[in-house]
Amino acid sequence: MRVVQKFGGSSVADAASIRRVARRIVDTQAAGAGVVVVVSAMGDTTDDLLDLAKQVSPNPPPRELDMLLTAGERMSAALLAMAINDLGAKARSFTGSQAGVITTSAHGDARIIDITPGRIESALNKGDIVIVAGFQGVSQDTKDVTTLGRGASDTTAVALASALGADLCEIYTDVDGVFTADPRIVPAARQIPEISTDEMLELAANGAKILHLRCVEYARRENVPVRVRSSFSDKPGTLVKVTTNEEGPSMEAALITGVAHDRSEAKITVAGVPDKIGEAARIFGVIAEADINIDMIVQNVSVADATTAISFTLPQDDVPKALAALEAAREEIGFADVTADETVGKVAIVGVGMRTNPGVTAKFFEALAKAGVNIQMISTSEIRLSVVVDADDVDKAVRATHTAFGLDSDTDAVVYGGTGR
Ligand code: ADP
Ligand code: ASP
Ligand code: MG
Repeated sequence: MRVVQKFGGSSVADAASIRRVARRIVDTQAAGAGVVVVVSAMGDTTDDLLDLAKQVSPNPPPRELDMLLTAGERMSAALLAMAINDLGAKARSFTGSQAGVITTSAHGDARIIDITPGRIESALNKGDIVIVAGFQGVSQDTKDVTTLGRGASDTTAVALASALGADLCEIYTDVDGVFTADPRIVPAARQIPEISTDEMLELAANGAKILHLRCVEYARRENVPVRVRSSFSDKPGTLVKVTTNEEGPSMEAALITGVAHDRSEAKITVAGVPDKIGEAARIFGVIAEADINIDMIVQNVSVADATTAISFTLPQDDVPKALAALEAAREEIGFADVTADETVGKVAIVGVGMRTNPGVTAKFFEALAKAGVNIQMISTSEIRLSVVVDADDVDKAVRATHTAFGLDSDTDAVVYGGTGR
């Protein structure tokens, strides 16, 4: 039996937490498992390091930023190994590079290309507990240290679980599993015992940061069973089951499985776009060339002067790049004006039950209307419906929707730690 256990930042926030987590790891090994641990930086270390970098330089070189950020995970890995050795078990820590996590060279957003876990295998064979610094790797081309994107220690864990043929990948965090909504916003959220990877993908893609999106994609592709649970309790947590939505609802036929929200997006509006063939292609060609991923798009109907407005959402961090690229192409495309709005948020409902229930859309919009929330944009997929609303309306939109779909529980969800940052 082999298991990969990942501990998030709030589970290793201070010395006492590191010792508590060490105990759990040693107990797992004592029960007969080969244990590989992936660890995140302590508490809000990554955010603190980012703040520090910004104080030193407004625009730090991405390579140096990655050198800085990877230090956070390296610290907690070494400290955890020390705590485990103190309990009489043997542990060795490795950086992502030492663990064989080979990536692309895109600093801050590198993708795992390959895992060559030779050193991990030999440490496991010696009976050692292996600790791997999460969220990082080494570029195949440049040999520089890379990071995999915010929250990506989850992805390190699943990728290692797959490469090592582990029986299970456990993601330990500060709540009792995956809930029907973020328990920090909806105290009445319910814990979900079992969820399909398809639904989990939609929740993660729409902002539920309980699991990193690419970790769920990886788990589905490589067939890795993932269990999300709390490092502060012994509750069994949530099993993310590799099933497709073809197989139908994973639990009793709830209309929807969960509500997700996202505050990291912005909206750009290109106004005065000539209403003729090829304009949208030109606008989104410029955005694609700037390497920006967009999410929702709306185009207004043509007005009297035969122009339209096109709005789309994108990650807030990409706004300056998108504005610059569009401004540069303004004359060629021939639009009048481009503006950005960062005070938007996204709210999404997810569930396989949605496919066979035509009333879901109306119920969602009714709940938003009753809560006094204006919808700016709408987008749908087979098992997801999402809207863009004013950033200030996100919390009440999530709560109203959760209640409207009958998801409220009688008891309050427990949030054990973390700052929610
Ligand atoms: P970690 O440091 O362990 O990686 P994260 O902060 O990345 O933890 O993720 C855990 C947090 O995700 C929870 O504290 C909770 O606020 C948030 N969250 C958002 N959506 C959900 C959801 N549907 N279920 C559970 N937690 C959620
Ligand atoms: N420490 C990194 C972050 O805060 C990676 C992670 O926690 O998964 O984004
Ligand atoms: Mg996380």
